[in-house]
Amino acid sequence: MNHTRRGFLKASGGIMAASAVAATSGIVRAQAQGPKALGMVTEHTLPNLPYPYDALEPYIDAKTVELHHDKHHAAYVKGLNAAEAALAAARAADDLAMVQHWSRQASFHGAGHFLHSLLWPTMAPSGKGGGGEPSGLLAERIGRDFGSLKAFKDQFSASAKAVEGSGWCLLTYRPADDRLVVLQAENHQKLSPWNVVPILPIDVWEHAYYLKYQNKRDEYIAAWWNVVNWEQVAKDLDIARKV
Ligand code: MN
Repeated sequence: MNHTRRGFLKASGGIMAASAVAATSGIVRAQAQGPKALGMVTEHTLPNLPYPYDALEPYIDAKTVELHHDKHHAAYVKGLNAAEAALAAARAADDLAMVQHWSRQASFHGAGHFLHSLLWPTMAPSGKGGGGEPSGLLAERIGRDFGSLKAFKDQFSASAKAVEGSGWCLLTYRPADDRLVVLQAENHQKLSPWNVVPILPIDVWEHAYYLKYQNKRDEYIAAWWNVVNWEQVAKDLDIARKV
């Protein structure tokens, strides 16, 4: 049980581990420049671009990088700060409908902020850190887990192309079985911002409660609080803080 639990916990932090393998972690970069804790609320800040706007030319044009970073990413940071402040206020006012609304907003903007924070440092000017082939452990693991660099690139490209509507394709590290895994993220949140490590889950699929509670999910949730293992949650928090 402990082993499985720890494995899941570590797996959920996989995106950070993947970033650390691929390049300088965007998450570390974002945290180094902030956020500053303001009591119950964090002030998130826009990380600086690690290169000039035109550094990725001709592959990605300067105007696109400028708009993408200065307007789009900045808007996610602003939206996340606003949503988390409003969320704290709604929680204090016991306004549960608004708590749900602002949680959704925080997920949308938080996912946007954290994924873009990963994006910038995982690109570099072509020939100056960008392009070429991976080396070392990353190259070994890509070969082991996908068969070859070409096979990985083919799968990654096909997955990126097949994302329905807006979204992302992500190479992730899954510590549970020490593997690299390609994942798609439609839109980017689905109510779960990336770069979070779950420490207490509740399963609200009907299979988790239907035999006893049928459609009364609220009763199941109320009952579930009686079986939460807080000591384990505290251990999970300790582990997550070391990820
Ligand atoms: Mn974007």
